[in-house]
Amino acid sequence: MGMLILVVGKRINLFPVLMIVTGLAWVVACRMHIIETTALFPTELCGRVVVLDPGHGGVDPGAHEGERILEKDLVLEIADKTRKFFVNAGAEVIMTRNQDHDLAAPGEKSLAVRKRQDLRARVELANTAKADLYLSIHVNSARDRGKSGLEVYYSEKQGSKELAEFIAEESRRYTGRVRSTQPGRFFVLRETNMPAVLVEVGYLSNPEEKNLLHDKKYQERLAWIIFQGALRYFEQNNVPTTTGKLN
Ligand SMILES: [Zn+2]
Repeated sequence: MGMLILVVGKRINLFPVLMIVTGLAWVVACRMHIIETTALFPTELCGRVVVLDPGHGGVDPGAHEGERILEKDLVLEIADKTRKFFVNAGAEVIMTRNQDHDLAAPGEKSLAVRKRQDLRARVELANTAKADLYLSIHVNSARDRGKSGLEVYYSEKQGSKELAEFIAEESRRYTGRVRSTQPGRFFVLRETNMPAVLVEVGYLSNPEEKNLLHDKKYQERLAWIIFQGALRYFEQNNVPTTTGKLN
């Protein structure tokens, strides 16, 4: 019967149980620095501090199609899927938000002031933690509904461009939907102290891509692309481990 076992009169499939136990053991060993090298799992992400920044939130919906389809919701779903890949590989993940809110001061009424406070808080979170990477996730929109594809913007910090190109390459491989990589002057790219990219994962204004962005499997694929790009960045650069901490 292979992976089937009888437990108190019930048959359960052992395979998923074994996968979970092995996965947990791996993450614990990695965190405790028991594992330094192994051919089975990538160790480059062990102990790395990665900031995942789902753009917008709260009063700021970001790009939208009508009132129901909002960038802030889609990027949160994609960021959460990305988080799981990083955590399973032993990285420490800081999410700038994991719910529908911005990071501005409570009670601040001016939307312009809220936006400034929100972006400043996201950057401070990453700089204070001395994170190894900053990955901001957004969804695009344009008047031209024919526009589609992933765009990666990178900061001037060393390693950012390389990281952007790895993510674009992974996107070429897994979705075939790459539009460009280019320098970006966004606040979160200018002010963060570590390699940072802002990934516009697709165009909500493009009917075909709008449907894809809602598809859980496609979201998973986008998360995988971002994760793989970051993994390749660490693998190929042999970047020293961070002194950053999650607190
Ligand atoms: Zn955005």
